[in-house]
Amino acid sequence: MTAILGGGIAGLSAAFYALENPKIGPLILFEASDRLGGWIKTEKSKSSALFEKGPRTLRIAGLSGKNALQMIDNLDLTNKIIPIPSTHVSARSRLIYADKKLHTLPNSMASLFKFNSLVDRPLFTVMFNDLIAKKGENRDESIYSFVERRFGRDIADYLISPMICGICAGDAKKISVNFLMKTPAEFEQKHRSIGLGLIKEGLQNIFNSKRNAEQEKKEEESSEGSAARATKEKWAIWSLQGGLQQIPEALEKKLTSKNVKIRAKTEVRNVTFKPDCVELEVDGGVQKYERVIASLSAERLGRILERQHPQLARELEAIPAVTVAVINFEFPGKVLPMEAFGFLVPPKEKIPILGVIFDSCVFPQKASTVLTVMMGGAWFDEYFGVNSSQAHMETVALEQLRRILGIKVDPSDSHFQILENCIPQYIVGHEERLKRIRNYITAHKMPLILCGSSYQGVGLNDVILSAKQAVHDIS
Ligand SMILES: Cc1cc2nc3c(=O)[nH]c(=O)nc-3n(C[C@H](O)[C@H](O)[C@H](O)COP(=O)(O)OP(=O)(O)OC[C@H]3O[C@@H](n4cnc5c(N)ncnc54)[C@H](O)[C@@H]3O)c2cc1C
Repeated sequence: MTAILGGGIAGLSAAFYALENPKIGPLILFEASDRLGGWIKTEKSKSSALFEKGPRTLRIAGLSGKNALQMIDNLDLTNKIIPIPSTHVSARSRLIYADKKLHTLPNSMASLFKFNSLVDRPLFTVMFNDLIAKKGENRDESIYSFVERRFGRDIADYLISPMICGICAGDAKKISVNFLMKTPAEFEQKHRSIGLGLIKEGLQNIFNSKRNAEQEKKEEESSEGSAARATKEKWAIWSLQGGLQQIPEALEKKLTSKNVKIRAKTEVRNVTFKPDCVELEVDGGVQKYERVIASLSAERLGRILERQHPQLARELEAIPAVTVAVINFEFPGKVLPMEAFGFLVPPKEKIPILGVIFDSCVFPQKASTVLTVMMGGAWFDEYFGVNSSQAHMETVALEQLRRILGIKVDPSDSHFQILENCIPQYIVGHEERLKRIRNYITAHKMPLILCGSSYQGVGLNDVILSAKQAVHDIS
């Protein structure tokens, strides 16, 4: 029997795809908390508006985007999909708050040639910077230092840093260039400049390896169902009517119907690898399994491997994660000065919020306005180390909403939650650390399979695909 640790989207997806691999056999899934879904959690306001505490939208781009939509079709959730086409205002209008103003990010080729208020120059001049910049040393570095070297400090401060806050609540000065810009970094080494790389290798390869791009093209041609519809109708993102929590709920239903045993409120406290089995410490006793699929955060996994494998535990625990406070607000009526996806704040502005999502612009909610304020991340201790009480953080969030968006009315409802260590940080050296972790597991012949957001991507699409690949590889 195979044991899956963790009932977030990664663990549930691993179980879902394990059913397709006849070599895996019966499954049991352990979840420490009293609910499945991990960070995916949908709640309702007093007036029944949706409050997403964690993820709210998925992108459609790439293999992982198509794969997630296929899973949605397989879970019979297709008729619940809310597609957001790339022409929708929330897909076209993403804002940055800097210098006491909201700036719209460029969203067309033409806008690259216009003066851009955010960086005080037309964005095409960035390419000139890149052409004259010297080639860097061939080693991992922060995404901030890479972008500053090649495109200029303004781009690093006002475009890349807030983007990293939006993706992983992290500090671009610590996050590895390979997290988002692996191919541009490779272009620099190969062609001296990213612009020259683009000319020689093509635009479609910029955020992707050539092999992936080719594979993606093939997948695109053969995709069916919602994935094919998404391509044809040019969706940018999507969500589900009733909220994303329906994905773990549908997975749970599917898994129990296929005889997967699910044990909630059951924390795995220790794992010991024996020559003929893996022993798990659960419910005050020891249970034996053939193999373990671990979908916990690297830090939590490190803790339960520490006794037998301290060296591996140290590597896992060195993948940090940041804490984010999420505050959902509902205001009566339409209170926003403009329609957009939301805005992000460059850390340089020293404002105690990461950004605000205009949920009701993306998914309109009857007569009210729903916004989510994200706070903390890599700066949690700096701003809230002394006082992280709900009252204080809600006051700070509301003050910022009033100041930046000019909202005068009081919210009719709000929900507050601190999500501890919720987003892993792929800091400089992450790829090398992953190699050491994988080499250790192989060298010690451990029947341990890793998936989840700590390793190969923090978005839901990446996590679902990483679970699929991990279990398909089991032979
Ligand atoms: C605020 C926020 C907003 C986000 N927004 C988006 C978005 O809009 N789009 C997007 O694509 N992604 C988004 N993400 C990222 C995405 O939600 C996560 O990457 C994903 O949910 C992680 O899933 P997981 O299964 O890897 O981990 P988790 O959700 O952390 O699941 C791990 C599970 O393991 C359990 N566990 C831990 N220790 C043990 C143990 N010892 N024994 C048994 N069980 C244990 C935990 O209780 C948990 O349920 C967001 C994340 C956050 C936090």
